[in-house]
Amino acid sequence: MMDVKGFLIDLDGVLTLGNRAIDGAQEAIDLLKEKKIRFRCVSNTTRACRKTIAERLARLGFDIPESSLFTPPLAAIACMNAAGKHRCMLVTTGDVHKDFEHTFDLNGGAATDYVVIGDAGDTMTYRLLNTAFCAVNAGAEIIALEKDRFWMSPDGLMLSAGPFVAALEFATGKTATVVGKPSPKFFEMALKDMNVRTDQALMIGDDILTDIAGARSMGMKTGLVRTGKFNEESLRSAPVTPDWVIDSIANIRDLL
Ligand SMILES: [Mg+2]
Repeated sequence: MMDVKGFLIDLDGVLTLGNRAIDGAQEAIDLLKEKKIRFRCVSNTTRACRKTIAERLARLGFDIPESSLFTPPLAAIACMNAAGKHRCMLVTTGDVHKDFEHTFDLNGGAATDYVVIGDAGDTMTYRLLNTAFCAVNAGAEIIALEKDRFWMSPDGLMLSAGPFVAALEFATGKTATVVGKPSPKFFEMALKDMNVRTDQALMIGDDILTDIAGARSMGMKTGLVRTGKFNEESLRSAPVTPDWVIDSIANIRDLL
């Protein structure tokens, strides 16, 4: 159908749904491997390191190497490496710090180059946010792993990183560099990671704004799946139209 050299594939709602794999998802990955089409599984999750995400996928029956995953922490690391700076303070939860600890000095305190802030969950405290504020005030830049307002957990709505990123921006007058979806930087770095140009790439996602509009703004082709958070109304009212709408990732063959 088209000359696609690489796919970016969202995880939640596309390959997985809660604690199970979507039917036909591994077969879709197998097909890409068989056709030697490069791919990166991309997620805005900022509560787990890449290794943990890979292990979770393996438990669900996926055969996806860690190197085929690209997440906001990886994008943040690429940003910091490009700038040649290696001190950062993390405002995160879970084991996200494991992505950083081999290459970065995480003990900078107030003397740090970057405050990297993601969804910190219950780790967030006044003291932690205030330490981050002081670091930014002393010259550190803010890297936001995502800037979503909230997310839907099994227990109901939960604050995402966005409100806390906004608090740091408000208090310091600085603007955060957002490296998660739908930031163009994220798509750019994920494509660079597999050495594919934007006009050769196709993004598959279940979120018309974060996945589809984000990738479209970069000049990528886009495919929306009718699984995960998909609903007809958000497709009708969206400011962008995906190039393809498919029932699920299992129909990836139609896009090749
Ligand atoms: Mg999704």
